[in-house]
Amino acid sequence: MSQSKSGIRFLIDATEGDSRRLHVGIEIQGPFTESRLIAHFPRWVPGSYFLREPIQHMTDFLATDQDGNTLESQRKDVDAVRIKVPEGASSILLTYRLLANDMSVRSNHLDRTHLHMMPPFTWFMPTSGIENNRMNMEHIVELHAPKSWSPATQYLSTGKRNGKGELTKNEGTTHCFTAPNRDEFLDGIIECNANPMDTWVVDGRTHHLKMWDSGGHDIDKGMLERFKEDMNKIIREHHALFGIPSWDNYVTVIQLTDTMRGGLEHLNSQTSMVPRQSLMPGHDDEYRDLVSLFSHEYLHQWNVKRLRPRNMLDYDLQREGHSDLLWWFEGGTSWLGDMLCVRSGAWSEEDWRKDFMRKMKRHTARHGMEFESLAESSHDAWIHLYRGHAFSRESQISYYLEGELAIMQLDVELRRRSKGDAGVCDLMAELCRRHAIEYDSAEKLGITYKDIRQALTSMKGGRRLGSLLDDLMHQRKAPDVDATMAYFGLKLVPEHPLKDGEENDGWLGVNLSTKDGRVKVTSHLSGSPVRQHVMPGDEIVAIDGIRTASLKGLKTSLKGKAGQQVELMSSHEGIIQSHKVQPLPSPQHGVKLDGKGNSKWNSYIATRQSS
Ligand SMILES: [Zn+2]
Repeated sequence: MSQSKSGIRFLIDATEGDSRRLHVGIEIQGPFTESRLIAHFPRWVPGSYFLREPIQHMTDFLATDQDGNTLESQRKDVDAVRIKVPEGASSILLTYRLLANDMSVRSNHLDRTHLHMMPPFTWFMPTSGIENNRMNMEHIVELHAPKSWSPATQYLSTGKRNGKGELTKNEGTTHCFTAPNRDEFLDGIIECNANPMDTWVVDGRTHHLKMWDSGGHDIDKGMLERFKEDMNKIIREHHALFGIPSWDNYVTVIQLTDTMRGGLEHLNSQTSMVPRQSLMPGHDDEYRDLVSLFSHEYLHQWNVKRLRPRNMLDYDLQREGHSDLLWWFEGGTSWLGDMLCVRSGAWSEEDWRKDFMRKMKRHTARHGMEFESLAESSHDAWIHLYRGHAFSRESQISYYLEGELAIMQLDVELRRRSKGDAGVCDLMAELCRRHAIEYDSAEKLGITYKDIRQALTSMKGGRRLGSLLDDLMHQRKAPDVDATMAYFGLKLVPEHPLKDGEENDGWLGVNLSTKDGRVKVTSHLSGSPVRQHVMPGDEIVAIDGIRTASLKGLKTSLKGKAGQQVELMSSHEGIIQSHKVQPLPSPQHGVKLDGKGNSKWNSYIATRQSS
């Protein structure tokens, strides 16, 4: 075993797609330092803050020595296994099968058409029984897959061979890779399918695009070309801000689905999953979303993967790792990702405005900013983000959305004080120079709140902005979007302002669902006049004695009833109840940007690419 090699081979076999089960192996060469080898299965995936316990998908665990003798093993705690190491053992092989049935960007998915592999969802990590530093050396990864498939991954390819797989003896191709250390091993997803890989160069950096459709639908060639052109624009706009990266080879995996959506970032790759309409001609809203998602995940190469919270430099995947800064990493990436879409020309100004209205509708419909600050929301991601319920948004916020609006407010203040010379995008680039992985200029890797504050207050125009940053992060108060937009000469107005003399229909302030002629409340909006009367899950049976059987019927019953008392009959837990309620005029939230915008606006959305 050479100095830099770990002596560990991580194996998977994806040749039994119809079973939805992967065959997995980990071959650990000696020397063993103890009579017990302990290995832990990661419990979460970086970028998705929730203990998902992927070990739950494991069956058929077996440990054998170099001669194929079965070794005694025991499960330990919720996430580990303990193996007895025989005297003189030169190598131990752990094998098991793993159900890969979860079609999401953060997990394993295997079927007869593809494999999406996520390392923390796949392999145990030896944690005791071998020299500790071996985990941080170069690992070997081998994927055995059907012959017609080819892999896309940020792992370094070292070749392939045809023949029988080591774990299944099935015919196929074994693709061999290396990962230089623990961090890059855990980060290296693989998408493997029969679609060709598209490879091209932007600003001297190589890009790979691998597509997959969950139902095998043909992808529109014209739309794909359009998307690639927009990718190029976005990539160049990132380069114009951060400089051309010192690293090369970036893999974009796009998964097209029926309805599922999501994205996950990696050091040199992303998986972005969108409904397949996104790449069908004529679906402008869906396409705009795909472009935004690509830009967001691409930006994460810097903000979150290379510029990390300091306590996440070396992820501990066995327990929760808290950060009060997730609002910076996700809100900042949402804000700047979309700014780079419009600056690059991949989005038109109209695209930006439409998407901003979508965000403002969410922001004004309900948010819990009187109950939760950005810091609190970030800290509690582990217990809130993936555990939403009907009342969540009353007392919780989305640190993505509210973080984005807060950063826009900070950005505008910095622009105002620097006379347009500096913005938060420049702050992010500066933080990378000071603290990001793979930056020669970095003094100390990883950031804390203090580092952001220090970099901000040392920028032109930022000297007195420390307390604004403190307030935005710690106060339980919504960002001032009206003032932010006023700087650009823009005003927020209602989407559908009432015309003179127009009658305002009654508004109940609830989200509704309909099924089999029943209209049910799913959640309340801010200011709902029926908040104390009808609960999520209740059916609205009738208004003033008229049966409610559809959303349209309910709307008709409430026509012209704003400010008037009506009798609302509901069914709560199967029991009919009657309430006297007063529907309100529907709120006229300012969600749409009005006005052309001033010269500051024009320079805000202008490209920084030199032509
Ligand atoms: Zn993100």
